[in-house]
Amino acid sequence: MDVKFFIPVLFLFLTACQPKTADKTVEVKTIPSQEYLTAATLFTQHAAEYDALCYQAYHLASIQLIQALEANPEKPAVVLDLDETVLDNSPYTAWQIVNEKPYSPETWAQWVQLAEAKPIAGVTSFLRLADSLGVSIFYVSNRNQEADLVATQKNMQDLGLPQLGDEHFYLKTTTSDKTERRKAVTDLGYDIQLFIGDNLGDYDHIWDKPTVNADRKKLVEERATEMGTKYIALPNTLYGTWEGAVYQYNRSLSEMQKDSARKAALTVPSMPFH
Ligand SMILES: [Mg+2]
Repeated sequence: MDVKFFIPVLFLFLTACQPKTADKTVEVKTIPSQEYLTAATLFTQHAAEYDALCYQAYHLASIQLIQALEANPEKPAVVLDLDETVLDNSPYTAWQIVNEKPYSPETWAQWVQLAEAKPIAGVTSFLRLADSLGVSIFYVSNRNQEADLVATQKNMQDLGLPQLGDEHFYLKTTTSDKTERRKAVTDLGYDIQLFIGDNLGDYDHIWDKPTVNADRKKLVEERATEMGTKYIALPNTLYGTWEGAVYQYNRSLSEMQKDSARKAALTVPSMPFH
């Protein structure tokens, strides 16, 4: 057959084979379940802009801390979360993508035991500054107190971070709500100058409660003056309460249902494009 004739005929044949509804071609795609994390993980691991944001957060934290110390508070302290605040766990997310496995407590526990997380940009200098200024550091994290403390301390020791005695760690025992653990620090007479985290629940439990992100945003707007003054926020595109709220905290959703919930939550242009 003449090639000039064959190509258009082949095109018409393939076009006719596409499944069609009344007015449009239907494309059926199968996407690996963890594929949605790829851009977020690449941003965390490769974007210099991500590092710049983290340095910016810790630079601001240093300025605020030095300024707060001018008032000579008794027993000054800072409270930090650990994951995506002090420690970069993006290799675990990369593992999820490559192996098509959703997060699970079992695989996460194995990652923690490896104790090979790298520090978030800027955190080492900030913690050393706080330490040199006589400020007590408390790590309030939802890593597991019993299973994860030793591996976490080893990881942080290898990174040369300060104040790693048991008394500086308030990990999770019963609840993810950090309110009681923050209170335990103040009950010891410490005056907390700054809270640092990637999740607003690291600052106040009120952000853990709303089931829609619009309400979480409204709370930030209401307390905007505390952002960058009392609470220093680190970016985390990988996961967080923000993502749980997209699913209305429904842990029983299938990967496909989660995908539908993510798509349904997107804000699109007011007019369709063609
Ligand atoms: Mg965190």
